[in-house]
Amino acid sequence: MFTLRNSRIVSSRTLVGSTSAQHFQCDCACEGGLSHTVNSTTDLLAILDAQTQPKPFPQVYSNRLNENLYLYNPESEAGVTLLNAVAAKVFLEFDGQRTLAEIFERLVAEDSTANFQDLLNLTSELVHNDLLYLTAEVPLPKIEPSRKLGIWLHITNQCNLRCTYCYVGKTSEAMSAETGRKILDSLLDSALQQGMNEVALKFAGGEALLEWPLVEELYYYALEKAQGTGLTIQPIILSNGTPLTPKIAQLLKQHNFQVALSLDGVGEAHNKQRPFVNGRPSFERVEEGLRLLQEYEIPFSISVVVTKQNLAQLPHLVEYLLDHQAPFTLNFFRDNPFANDGLTVGNPEMIEGLRQAYATLEANLPEYSLLGAILDRVQLEIPHRHACGAGINYVVVKHTGEVASCQMLMHRPAGKVTQSDPLTLIRQAELRNLPPAQKEGCASCRWRYVCAGGCPIVTQRTFGRYDLRSPYCNTYTALIPEVIRLEALRLLKYATIA
Ligand code: SF4
Ligand code: SF4
Repeated sequence: MFTLRNSRIVSSRTLVGSTSAQHFQCDCACEGGLSHTVNSTTDLLAILDAQTQPKPFPQVYSNRLNENLYLYNPESEAGVTLLNAVAAKVFLEFDGQRTLAEIFERLVAEDSTANFQDLLNLTSELVHNDLLYLTAEVPLPKIEPSRKLGIWLHITNQCNLRCTYCYVGKTSEAMSAETGRKILDSLLDSALQQGMNEVALKFAGGEALLEWPLVEELYYYALEKAQGTGLTIQPIILSNGTPLTPKIAQLLKQHNFQVALSLDGVGEAHNKQRPFVNGRPSFERVEEGLRLLQEYEIPFSISVVVTKQNLAQLPHLVEYLLDHQAPFTLNFFRDNPFANDGLTVGNPEMIEGLRQAYATLEANLPEYSLLGAILDRVQLEIPHRHACGAGINYVVVKHTGEVASCQMLMHRPAGKVTQSDPLTLIRQAELRNLPPAQKEGCASCRWRYVCAGGCPIVTQRTFGRYDLRSPYCNTYTALIPEVIRLEALRLLKYATIA
């Protein structure tokens, strides 16, 4: 029976354990979100009255899950909101024409015990979750420029694996400690000059752990240099996992490192894509690395590169990662001059392959949100205008001190870190990381703030232009609703809304 008091709402933002376990890995230019709502539900209750006329946001996506309704505003940080049948019925009353008093009058006709305070409580939650707005015009998203600098330190060309898709031309060259210090001097000065307050310091290669003493030295140098400046430094290491030992794991934990560990399949599926230099399988060693990360409680995320080679095995890998409670991200292969031929996946195949993986997820939904993890650069947790920070607040520095706006452009550096301000250099470099408003096909897309038009380099390499929508647009538009649905199912599984 319809009783307002029985209305229930849960959202990604409010469900305990909801925060994406993968968040730390984000190297993008997230602009702090475009949330419309700064008010708490208590603040909202103070401004709602009988004459308030709440209107539904036009861009909200909605769908049914049994008798429940789930909603998602792609311009908000609220994530998915799930309404039980009663709350859904009330939500659908909001047509933007009537006041709360008029809506309440209609509801009382069905439930004479309906209480106006219950309607106010429900309305304040709907406003708080950016599903309804109270102003005369649809509020424009609030854009907060990011104050986080992403630094990708390419410390070595060496690697003990030979992955089929790697973009690094392997040599024995590595960064010297002196070059590393000069790079950090320049980058941290630049960060402060440009008003940054946070640095994500990523050590990458090649295999960065092969240069562990250098990583430690440079991290300490950066910490020392940042002391008293207000800059916080978050160290991250990108690794294939095979060189991990208990001693290194202990130090990673002690230094507060986060780890992005590459794993592309279970057993043979991984070995085919990521063998050792001598062709021997690497899976067992990566498994041991994963075990150490968990034993030493080091925050980590598994980075999976989806290619034509491992697509069919993806459901098996997803099952394995869920069994091992290992958070992960699914990233699409980016073609490059050093990669093997034939690894790119076309849209129809990608859609089908990911659907199979999503079916495995649906059967074993984890406690954490997958909104930012399972569709390449599509990030449904934090609205943003750029798919990544390339050319904006992300600097890649080679072992030689040359600067590029993306690791995929290291072969065409924009200049030397010591020659001029590195952030200015990358902002003037060739890569044009345009907002969706400047990409043909994206400007009016409902998903423009979650997709942002995709990786600019993939678009440029496919079409010879930056100002177009992604070649993966069909995949994104087909699967974004499925990612939202998976989140609604997760809410249903872990929250009580009956
Ligand atoms: S690439 Fe496609 S899905 Fe992404 S913003 Fe552009 S039109 Fe929308
Ligand atoms: S340009 Fe593409 S490959 Fe480079 S950081 Fe951005 S999303 Fe990644």
